[in-house]
Amino acid sequence: MLEPFFNLMEIKNSLLDMTATQFDMSGKLEKLWAMVGSTPMLEILYEYKERTRRIYAKCEQYNLTGSIKDRMALYILQRAYAENKIKPGDRIIEVSSGNTGISFAAIGRALGHPVTIIMPDWLSRERMDIIKSLGAVVILVSKEQGGFLGSIRLSEKMAAGDRDIFLPRQFENLSNAEAHEKTTAPEIWQQLAGIGLSPTAIVAGVGTGGTVMGMHNYFKKKNPQIKIHPLEPEESLTLSTGHRIGSHRIQGISDEFIPPIVKLDQLNEIIQVSDGDSILMAQKLARNLGLAVGISSGANILGAIRVQETLGDDAVVVTVFSDSNKKYLSTDLMKTQPVKENYLSPQIGLLDYLPVKRACQE
Ligand code: PMP
Repeated sequence: MLEPFFNLMEIKNSLLDMTATQFDMSGKLEKLWAMVGSTPMLEILYEYKERTRRIYAKCEQYNLTGSIKDRMALYILQRAYAENKIKPGDRIIEVSSGNTGISFAAIGRALGHPVTIIMPDWLSRERMDIIKSLGAVVILVSKEQGGFLGSIRLSEKMAAGDRDIFLPRQFENLSNAEAHEKTTAPEIWQQLAGIGLSPTAIVAGVGTGGTVMGMHNYFKKKNPQIKIHPLEPEESLTLSTGHRIGSHRIQGISDEFIPPIVKLDQLNEIIQVSDGDSILMAQKLARNLGLAVGISSGANILGAIRVQETLGDDAVVVTVFSDSNKKYLSTDLMKTQPVKENYLSPQIGLLDYLPVKRACQE
């Protein structure tokens, strides 16, 4: 049982080894890595069609700012220092649907950077307030001003010719996926190995696609048979159609376009779940098990159950809780949600959960 601990330390040390030569940030980065990653994993017991089954969920709400995006924000900044693409004091400007903005605001400030976050104006109030509370400047962009794509264009315009601005460019920066290849995925591998399992399939909702591509890049090397499924909302089939075709309520996924880092031809079948069903599942996780997670986490669990349904009761299907419910208190997550006939969550009985030991614990 001690082995996973040392393996994980090796991963973290190798991340620190590649850190900046010109500006020595290794102490600060090491301090931050102590609060990012190494998250717990849960084995969630549920009942469906009168059978008891298990899904594994990596609890990313335990990261520094409460979401999976801390991993890529810290990793992107670390790589940027290593490659001399950023220097102390540079302003970080990023486009975000919320969690990335919160991560760059917190980690950017911890490293001494001023931060500006450009985000669409239809996202939850909590997101904007948290980013502002971390001392970052928030610029809101409406649908009429171009929404997500308009936000990206604005960030490029602001940075053009300014050598004191660093754009992380999460939608196209390969370090985003690499963060998950080097941290999230090996942690999952080691945590499952600790209980004598290895994954059959991974399911992850796609925002930038960093999570799903990082999983792909790691797990396909371990075993090409492992299935990696991207997930999108039924109400906005961006991955399936290539563009936004409606609005949906699963904040953080399916923005408006297929991000450049997503390579759908390398991934398994796209899983679709409805936003209402995802809200019901997130509510159920909180009310029945005390797991207060966000809407995309509800979506991911539904997607994982769908995949398990096709692979069989014993399939080891893993997904992520991307964040907690705290940024959704002003949204439909807190409201009664009408049940539709095709919804899966009313048929799922959530029974219990068991912690799978942290990779860094004994
Ligand atoms: N869920 C939430 C709540 C998110 O904020 C994000 C990131 N936008 C995701 C899921 C998707 O993660 P990724 O960007 O790695 O695809």
